[in-house]
Amino acid sequence: MWRKGWVVSLVLGAVLAGFLWERPWAGQAGADEAETFLPQQIPASALYRADVSVDMKTHTVAGTLTVRFAPQDSQAYFHLYPNAFQAKADLGGDNWEKVLGKQREPGSISIAEVRVDGQKVPAELQGRLQTLLRVPLTDKSSSEQTEVELRFTLQVPYNNGRLSYNDHAMWLGNWLPILAVKGADGWRLDPYSAIGDPFYSEMANYHLRVQLAEGYQLASSGIESVAVVTQTRPKRQTVYEIDAWNVRDFALVIMDDTYRQQMGKVGDVVVRTWSQEGDDPKIGGRLHEVAMQSLGYFGEQFGRYPYQEYDVVKTGGFFGGMEYPSLVFIQDEYFDRSDMVAEAVVAHETAHQWFYGLVGSDEVNEAWVDESLTDYATMAFLQRADPASAQGYIQLRLGQSEAAESYAGQGLQVGQSVERFPTWKSYTELVYGRGSAMWWTLREAWGEEKLHRLLRTYVHRNQYGQASGQELIDMLSQEAGANAAPFIDYWLKLRIDRKAAAETWMRSGKHE
Ligand SMILES: [Zn+2]
Repeated sequence: MWRKGWVVSLVLGAVLAGFLWERPWAGQAGADEAETFLPQQIPASALYRADVSVDMKTHTVAGTLTVRFAPQDSQAYFHLYPNAFQAKADLGGDNWEKVLGKQREPGSISIAEVRVDGQKVPAELQGRLQTLLRVPLTDKSSSEQTEVELRFTLQVPYNNGRLSYNDHAMWLGNWLPILAVKGADGWRLDPYSAIGDPFYSEMANYHLRVQLAEGYQLASSGIESVAVVTQTRPKRQTVYEIDAWNVRDFALVIMDDTYRQQMGKVGDVVVRTWSQEGDDPKIGGRLHEVAMQSLGYFGEQFGRYPYQEYDVVKTGGFFGGMEYPSLVFIQDEYFDRSDMVAEAVVAHETAHQWFYGLVGSDEVNEAWVDESLTDYATMAFLQRADPASAQGYIQLRLGQSEAAESYAGQGLQVGQSVERFPTWKSYTELVYGRGSAMWWTLREAWGEEKLHRLLRTYVHRNQYGQASGQELIDMLSQEAGANAAPFIDYWLKLRIDRKAAAETWMRSGKHE
């Protein structure tokens, strides 16, 4: 997700435009191709097969989901995130207000039947809002694959969130039941929270069969360019069969015929930007260029983008942008404003393809890991494109970082879990502002090359897996040849008294 914040308003012209497009990054999907595997080369821990039918009139999605995996326990849990938006959910308060907006209709996912290896089982809904499904796996062994089959009906809620619709599109983020992760400390059954992106999942392969009425089109986390598309008569339905290898989630946007795609290639990667007729073609064109240029730049800096496609789609929403594997949602207003904020949002969501997508992290307990790196990468991209225009964005974040020091007295930290942030403002200033300013300050001390080499190693080591904040901190200590604790204390733990020690640490790590 992308948050700008409310303290400083960013007013910038479209100076970036002319300069940006002459840069030579398009065509370089990544310098070190040998170091990043292709998603098809890695065995995935689970295979999701879904056969769904989408009704754009009633805003429902119904079908079956079959998940094949090796059990880790005598039970499995699925997150049913859409149930967070049920009628009985009391989503009051300013933080939910931001997510949902004033006008809202409830939604939910109902599970009709659960089978394990073909046998009906008594699965059980859990959690205050039934956002979890517990499936018993009695007598199943971790050495053998088990298959869980669910029949479900999803009523898509109407609100300002990641799972909603308007008159022309329906965007499905965190819609499909997804396996909870079992870590060293047990099952991770984190509930949906208003603040942050409260998701945590492992890589999996997906095969989706999606049935849609004629006149609609789709963008997804899978590979649309090789999808098998079949028309059925007389029902006038189109069936798409779409695959995705090694993705952490599978998002889908269904669009009517007011949507247009711009398509380009960065190396072998197909990049599509979806906007609507009536949108200013100059703005859409520029966002498409930013998607392409930033994908190329991040590939060059952090390791190649290994997927075949990347879709940037105009949706509604409160979030600025929202990242999913190979697909990002961009809030509609950014297709209607010619300032650098829109470009920053697209670059930010693109950077998430590395920090969240390729390298997963715990977005519930350590939101700073992916958000701070992603927003730092956004600053680095904007700086490379046009240093003068980038200053506005960089100063915004540095200003938020300073403002964040006032939270020290309230016991808040950058590295705390999402439910501990009292407001969106504190979350934005700490996780985005303070977090990205930390990396920016380190870059100024160490130089871009040294920092990006470290980040490239981080991506390479953790590709298709999960990384922790501690691993980043250990890498910093190792790179500097001195314990990074003072630096982390000052920047992430808001120990203002450690400022001088943090600077000393940075200087000690400056030289090889
Ligand atoms: Zn983000």
